[in-house]
Amino acid sequence: MYKIGIDIGGMSIKAGLVYNGEIIDRLVKETDTQGGLDKLVEDITYLVNELVIKNNINIEQVETIGMGFPGIVTNEGAVTCVNLGLKNALIVPKLNENFKNTKVKVGNDANVAALAEYAYGSMKGYDTGVMITLGTGVGGGIVVNGKLITGANGVGAEIGHMMISSNYYDCNCGNNGCFETFCSATAIIKYTQKLLNENRETIIREMCENDINKITAKMVFDAYRENDEVAVDVIKRFKKYLAMGLGNIVNFMDPGVICIGGGVSNASDILLDGLSEDIKKYLVYKETTIGDIVIAKFKNDAGILGASAL
Ligand SMILES: [Zn+2]
Repeated sequence: MYKIGIDIGGMSIKAGLVYNGEIIDRLVKETDTQGGLDKLVEDITYLVNELVIKNNINIEQVETIGMGFPGIVTNEGAVTCVNLGLKNALIVPKLNENFKNTKVKVGNDANVAALAEYAYGSMKGYDTGVMITLGTGVGGGIVVNGKLITGANGVGAEIGHMMISSNYYDCNCGNNGCFETFCSATAIIKYTQKLLNENRETIIREMCENDINKITAKMVFDAYRENDEVAVDVIKRFKKYLAMGLGNIVNFMDPGVICIGGGVSNASDILLDGLSEDIKKYLVYKETTIGDIVIAKFKNDAGILGASAL
């Protein structure tokens, strides 16, 4: 059977026809952020029908249409997504009117990314897996025995917002000390900017052409490879809190695997170097073995694949 995964973002709606865990065809449409629920349903219906026609199959051969949203998705499937103008929008019954015999499912994008790795990627074969996505923020997803754990109201698994220490700036969520204010690409950039503002000597100044707003996480990792002192300080700090955050996860649920994804995971050699040993410093049971730590397999395709696996 075929599955269709829909990755809904603020810029585009990406749809993929999935067979045996492989995306065999895909279509993209610009997101109409002003159109509301009806326009979204219309666009998704169009993409699904096009994929079916283009690939010469029947809609009856499509087992599931799954959607991933960058927002809150309750266990009842109500979607709240500020960027798309959706508030408690019940998209599943709406879409089901157009596809009566196909299962329609919906999930949050960070959870969906975890499911992609669990079903087809780096977490395949494990019972319990936790995914953390280190990007602009830090996203999280928990999978146990093939099921996403999102809590009683569907708003759990916000790993990026566990508070692990006090920090010198507040998180977007309003709290202070969230994991993502230490371990996201944004956190790396902000701390580097802070050290540059303290007039520290660094090659990053040249890399960003003296404009601290141009600093990227990649620049900092590149400078780290050159043993640049500022970059070493930034990455050391980042890795300390990464180990602390992952230590919390191990203490809390002892997963068989932790999967690290997102743009920051491109520097996986630096991330993984000594990480397991560092995590052990924060464990309650220091003698126990901890689960495997792996790097995500999927980059841009996680949204489509994970949605199809809902
Ligand atoms: Zn937060």
